[in-house]
Amino acid sequence: MTKTILITGGSRGIGRATALLCAAKGWNVAINYAQDEAAAAETLGGVEAAGARGFAMQGDVRDEAAMVALFDRTVATFGGIDGVVNNAGIVAPKSTVAEMDVERMRRVFDTNVLGAYIVAREAARRMGEGGSIVNVSSAAARLGSAFEYVDYAGSKGAVDTMTTGLAGELAAKGVRVNAVRPGLIATDIHASGGQPDRADRIGSKTPLGRAGTADEVARMIVWLLSDEASYVTAAFLDVSGGR
Ligand code: NAP
Repeated sequence: MTKTILITGGSRGIGRATALLCAAKGWNVAINYAQDEAAAAETLGGVEAAGARGFAMQGDVRDEAAMVALFDRTVATFGGIDGVVNNAGIVAPKSTVAEMDVERMRRVFDTNVLGAYIVAREAARRMGEGGSIVNVSSAAARLGSAFEYVDYAGSKGAVDTMTTGLAGELAAKGVRVNAVRPGLIATDIHASGGQPDRADRIGSKTPLGRAGTADEVARMIVWLLSDEASYVTAAFLDVSGGR
């Protein structure tokens, strides 16, 4: 069956890797991004090169109207939605809680919590039997991220709690809701938080001795989206090299 998958932050990093793996399965892919149009176009090119259908659409996950429009376009283009990857997220520069300004905390919580909840709400409204929502949380939700970004860790704790609650609400509709919790994955997110070497530096200290790749996370996301995971809901899948 040709599934239709909507991926927030689908233009780069873990979202892009997921888009390309979905396309390799022949699934339709709706790619959302915030500002980097060129990266989104490149990802869409990869989807189409794999022989799959897709589109890329700008829209900030914090913007309710933009997310409604993204879901509307996905349904209008492909006739429905089978999977949603609630992936868009940000970190802010390394800081203790004592030194954090409110503006930064607001940006992190608005993007990672409010944005994820808006996307989850739209998914809940539009998905039915056989649907799968995958929230991209973080190992930070377990670890707390002391001296780096406790705001980010807390935002992912909220995503975990939402996963449990929404799974309970949607089970009767036949929609599964799960989360992946990546550890240190080599993407640009670390540079955007002012620590370009972070994945390699800390990744080498994990039990598996290296950072993970976006592809290694994407494979778990695609598995949760697939019918192979038909009895998996309210689950947390750590993709963190044992960290
Ligand atoms: P990334 O490489 O920085 O990519 C982020 C993606 O999200 C981009 O497509 C970006 O679009 C989009 N995005 C950012 N803010 C957005 C917004 N407000 N609205 C819509 N889209 C937005 O990040 P990543 O490492 O792949 O991370 C993806 C998810 O995995 C995040 O939720 C992150 O917290 C989580 N995660 C990552 C790691 C890691 O080590 N990399 C570990 C644990 C969890 P633009 O390029 O257009 O801005």
